[in-house]
Amino acid sequence: MRRRLFTEEHEQFREQFRRFAQKEIEPKVAEWNARGTSDKETWRRAGAAGFLGASAPVEYGGAGGDFLYDGIIMEEMAWIRAHAMMISLHSDIVMPYLITYGSDEQKRKYLPGTISGDILLGIAMTEPGTGSDLANVQTRAIRTGDHYVINGSKTFISNGQIGDLFIVVAKTDPDANPPHKGISLILVEAETPGFVRGRKLDKLGLRGQDTSELAFEDCVVPAANLLGKEGQGFKMLMEKLQQERLCIAVASIVSCRRALQDTVGYVQQRHAFGQPIAAFQNTQFKLAELATEVELGQAFVDTLMVAHVAGEEIVKEVSMAKWWTTELQKRLTSECLQLHGGYGFMMEYPIATDYADAAVQSIYAGTNEIMKVIIARRMGLG
Ligand SMILES: Cc1cc2nc3c(=O)[nH]c(=O)nc-3n(C[C@H](O)[C@H](O)[C@H](O)COP(=O)(O)OP(=O)(O)OC[C@H]3O[C@@H](n4cnc5c(N)ncnc54)[C@H](O)[C@@H]3O)c2cc1C
Repeated sequence: MRRRLFTEEHEQFREQFRRFAQKEIEPKVAEWNARGTSDKETWRRAGAAGFLGASAPVEYGGAGGDFLYDGIIMEEMAWIRAHAMMISLHSDIVMPYLITYGSDEQKRKYLPGTISGDILLGIAMTEPGTGSDLANVQTRAIRTGDHYVINGSKTFISNGQIGDLFIVVAKTDPDANPPHKGISLILVEAETPGFVRGRKLDKLGLRGQDTSELAFEDCVVPAANLLGKEGQGFKMLMEKLQQERLCIAVASIVSCRRALQDTVGYVQQRHAFGQPIAAFQNTQFKLAELATEVELGQAFVDTLMVAHVAGEEIVKEVSMAKWWTTELQKRLTSECLQLHGGYGFMMEYPIATDYADAAVQSIYAGTNEIMKVIIARRMGLG
């Protein structure tokens, strides 16, 4: 079905990015998955080609486009299963904090490098003791004169090993009541003494993504590294999580579509009982149902992308899309794996990695249970 949200310029951009991705990214995916990380050179090439910060302001080197340009990159990356190179995390999840809340000085200092691919970004919220309950972070950033001294541990941090600049969620007022009012966001350069990269974590899926532990041991950063105002960190996070969750939904639907297409191809060539697997009514009904759900999901996600570009407040609807598309992705990859029989369990078949990669989608960027908490609250249910 023709999607109506993209203009001719968007489609041209998609063609340009697709050509870049076919040459510079797709051939490296298997190697990145084996190594557990992408490489910085490819990030720089993506930056040089204008694909980082597609919607970042032109004055800092960005392309000044709308969120649909970012969406196109997310879709193309999900289609080629290039999960190792988290352009979306860099450009659409972390960079927007700098763009919206950064001081002129912070923007001048960091944005050009992030857009060129020389400064890779990460965001450190989650801690060993707390994930969903973000207000309960224990990392502290205590102001002493013109500096903050940061102490604490973070875990599951994407780009943890290769990142150059992290937004760290920390308590600047550990005694604040309610606790979320004591949270601030602080920019920490990876070169800062006391910033310690921990283990790169061994994961079930998204094998190419660098997900790591970080520690802050008397890590001293200038007070000028505070992003926005002290005590406003939680509010800023809540404001920016709408886009993060929309990104997940955008990629999730494309991952569904890719797994479905590959499975349609597989069942047509695999035979049992003298006929293609595709000829069994069970196969046809299963795939017909899943294809229907993908179209439903796509229509919802497309509507939300347009609303997001228009600046509408769609926290409830984005939370709905995040849980629904990711549950669909988990169910769809499981059904498609089943249709592959034993081959679906073999790592040489992409459906095996699709299945493993889907598992985390309902966990990060706020678990699907938290999505339902948000929806229920906005329905007036407590
Ligand atoms: C691959 C990967 C990459 C990640 N990247 C990053 C990153 O870059 N930066 C970062 O900061 N974090 C990152 N995370 C962390 C991620 O955001 C957290 O794992 C997630 O928020 C859940 O937190 P938790 O793991 O502590 O689970 P918990 O909060 O301990 O949750 C455990 C279970 O309890 C449920 N639960 C919790 N509270 C409620 C409630 N109120 N009602 C009902 N159920 C509830 C949850 O839904 C879940 O099912 C990443 C995680 C993974 C796996």
